Amino acid sequence: MNYFIITYGCQMNWSDSERIAMVLKKIGYKQTSNENEADLMVINMCSVRQSAVNRVYGKIENFAKSKNILRQKNSKILLTGCILEKDIRNFKDKVDYILSIKALKHWSKFLKKEEYFYYPNQRDLEFNKKFNLKYFKTYPWYKNKFSAFVPISTGCDNFCSYCVVPYLRGPEISRPVEDIISEVKNLVQKGYKEIWLLGQNVNSYKSQIPARNASLRSRSDAGGQNSKLLNFSGLLKLVNNIPGDFWIRFISPHPKDFSDELIKTMAKCEKITSYLNLPVQSGDNKILKKMNRSYTVEQYKKLVKKIRKEFIKVRGKDILFCLTTDIIVGFPGETKKQFENTVELFKEIKFDMAYISQYSSRFGTAAFNLEDDVAQKEKKERDKILTEILKKTALENNKKYIGREVKVLFEFEKSGWLIGKTKEYKTIKLKVKSCKLQDFIGKFVKIKITEADLWGLKGEVS
Ligand code: SF4
Repeated sequence: MNYFIITYGCQMNWSDSERIAMVLKKIGYKQTSNENEADLMVINMCSVRQSAVNRVYGKIENFAKSKNILRQKNSKILLTGCILEKDIRNFKDKVDYILSIKALKHWSKFLKKEEYFYYPNQRDLEFNKKFNLKYFKTYPWYKNKFSAFVPISTGCDNFCSYCVVPYLRGPEISRPVEDIISEVKNLVQKGYKEIWLLGQNVNSYKSQIPARNASLRSRSDAGGQNSKLLNFSGLLKLVNNIPGDFWIRFISPHPKDFSDELIKTMAKCEKITSYLNLPVQSGDNKILKKMNRSYTVEQYKKLVKKIRKEFIKVRGKDILFCLTTDIIVGFPGETKKQFENTVELFKEIKFDMAYISQYSSRFGTAAFNLEDDVAQKEKKERDKILTEILKKTALENNKKYIGREVKVLFEFEKSGWLIGKTKEYKTIKLKVKSCKLQDFIGKFVKIKITEADLWGLKGEVS
């Protein structure tokens, strides 16, 4: 029996797909690279954006059409991931299984049935009690040999008014610190060079260090000597203390949970990269309030200033710090004047990159009840305006790299170019000449930057 997994959505879904692969492997399925040969097609979907849901519809339709021509006759479709209740209702008669990712440990049982639907309310207390720890305990089958996603928490309790994640991922639960440390240690021993700590709100991480783990207790100083309640800053210190040459990255932090202690830890721990994605979402206080983001533009700006200052203080004035953000344009009621405030923020902060979304309402969220009154054309225009500013600031920031020597982790080769990322998460291209790819891909290499454009850098081996 063969399986094929299609993944949509964020890094958390990609990480989950690695766990799904391991579970299927254990049951006896074999991975196929041709979806038409699959006996089981797993679609790890994401209801966060309607466009992603539409893609799933398209995929299922194509799959159904080819059933008697190309596809294995008795092949099945399994839907999992972050699925809104209304999408579950719509997909139910189109697929064979809809299974909650948190119940992954039980999939072998469910897959013995002809068809099965198990997707309880993801915020249900009993459901979460029963499955959360088991979900974290499922070991992944890592796709990449040098960069790994390590979930540290799942779920969210912030309820930003536009976001469906708290309903789809359930309440925020932190993974036990012992499991995280053991997974990272294992990866580093195998030679992994990049560890991504994942969570919907990483910096509200909390974990009790068990009394039986004296060594972990003694190595952790966060949360005070007596409490032994570890926060995100404490977790970062523990991960940083793992011996080995590797980078630590994390996603996504929330500005409201960014403490001074965390800023100091980030700057001090040498394995933590000088890169941060800090979602701002809007540059206007009234809109931020409507979004239920719990900070003001002034607080965000102050936070950015502090972070940049601390990195310069600890890592030296020549440090280059890369800051990216997420932003939504055309939130309900966003006036031209309010959007202008976002424009001002963009000009002032000079982001290296911004992931810009044009607002689209999602059923079940608080903002769904607000009138989606900014015209699509206007949303597009606002997106364009921010992109133009971004092009200028990104180019300006990238030019600062010219002439510098940077450490790069190369990821793959494409059309005669080696593509990698610098410590600051800048994309870099290196012309493949006579170099052996195996000496570069998955390795740290020192590169001298020779050129910079809008979205990245070019260099040569130094
Ligand atoms: S912090 Fe807000 S935007 Fe992020 S996952 Fe939670 S509710 Fe969604």
